[in-house]
Amino acid sequence: MQKFDTIIIGGGAAGLMAAGQSAELGVKVLVLERMNRPGRKLSITGKGRCNITNTAPLAEFISQVQPNGRFLRSSFSDFFSDELIQFFNKIGVKTVIERGGRVFPESGKAVELVHSMVQWCKNIGVTIKTNVRVNQLLIEDSKIIGVQGINNENGKNEAVTYHANKVIITTGGVSYPATGSTGDGYELAKLAGHKVNPVWPSLVPLETEGLKAKSINGLELKNIKATVWIDGKKAGEDFGEMSFADFGITGPIVLSLSRLIVPALKEKKEIIFSIDLKSALDDKKLDNRLIRDFNEKGKEKFNEILTGLLPKILIPVCLQDTKIEPDKLGHQISANERKELKKWLRNFEFKVKGHRPWEEAIITAGGIDTNEVNQKTMESKLVKGLFFAGEILDLDAPTGGYNLQIAFSTAWTAAQNSD
Ligand SMILES: Cc1cc2nc3c(=O)[nH]c(=O)nc-3n(C[C@H](O)[C@H](O)[C@H](O)COP(=O)(O)OP(=O)(O)OC[C@H]3O[C@@H](n4cnc5c(N)ncnc54)[C@H](O)[C@@H]3O)c2cc1C
Repeated sequence: MQKFDTIIIGGGAAGLMAAGQSAELGVKVLVLERMNRPGRKLSITGKGRCNITNTAPLAEFISQVQPNGRFLRSSFSDFFSDELIQFFNKIGVKTVIERGGRVFPESGKAVELVHSMVQWCKNIGVTIKTNVRVNQLLIEDSKIIGVQGINNENGKNEAVTYHANKVIITTGGVSYPATGSTGDGYELAKLAGHKVNPVWPSLVPLETEGLKAKSINGLELKNIKATVWIDGKKAGEDFGEMSFADFGITGPIVLSLSRLIVPALKEKKEIIFSIDLKSALDDKKLDNRLIRDFNEKGKEKFNEILTGLLPKILIPVCLQDTKIEPDKLGHQISANERKELKKWLRNFEFKVKGHRPWEEAIITAGGIDTNEVNQKTMESKLVKGLFFAGEILDLDAPTGGYNLQIAFSTAWTAAQNSD
């Protein structure tokens, strides 16, 4: 049987980085990947463009990471966004920086980036075995000695065992399970005695009550402010873009606010997602704008005047919610009605009744409790030679390249020789 120094369970973002980096340090590496090819999730990231990192400064970056961004300080101080960009350039992936510090491959093709990572691994001697699903860790006297799994190549379904004194678990989370991440790593970690904090889908679209969202399905809003109210208390807000779907709401700010909404849903709290459609105007400016519109267009009907204020598709919703007669002329609109319209524009509200399933969640919140992992090495504090990296750890962040940087940095750290 072939001997390996390090076994990596899962050939995703973290697994490939850990594998190549270990091999660069002279280690004989085996990657076991359950799917028929590595990097399935990585190849669909960033809408197929792969937002590899974000150029936010260290402190700001760490502040974006939940629930314990400080855990990453040591790893990031050795391998952060600059180093990641240099790494990709070294393996032939040129990068570009876009709006909000988001870094992408210049080619705009995630699949090419995956190909480059796999080639890099193979060129420095990493063995990648696909169709092998690991289901057991071999541990003796609190030291890792190997793994067991099922090799399903060509439908074989054959039990396999591999030995090594170092095992890095990079099996990801539970989101987008069709890419291979179905939470196996949590079970493996539990077998090793690790605490796994409850997991929930994050960066996930939200389902809203009633047919309001459905009636404006496809509408995209830009430069708006959204506020989340949980049981009547303001819980968070965000600025940016969002859109509407058959089931409810989605888009960047909905996904980032879902981080606080999903746990509240579990606790059966009342959640209101309120959109300020005119966040660029302060109250005085909005008042003046409405007064001016109704004065200048005194002989036009209310529903016609609204075309200057709202996307067309929103007008029936506005009429229904404000109960202002569509045929009323501009000069007939009372101060109270104007007030009502202003209130509606500031608080276009949706009651959130649920979230979309794991299949549509960008990231898994929760996971391996980082208190039981050495932040300088990513080694388990319970089992010698066992390491964790990537989404399996209880660390998650908003969209913008943060999550991949977490995966790459923790993998890079786990690959270093820690003895
Ligand atoms: C649609 C989508 C878009 C995204 N876009 C971005 C983006 O642009 N930027 C960003 O920063 N983040 C993005 N993310 C998040 C990012 O993809 C993840 O954070 C990242 O892939 C996590 O890397 P990982 O290696 O920990 O896990 P994964 O990439 O999920 O890899 C885990 C691997 O382990 C394998 N595996 C699982 N169990 C076993 C087992 N028992 N045996 C063997 N192998 C196993 C899986 O098949 C998989 O290949 C996106 C996520 C999704 C779903």
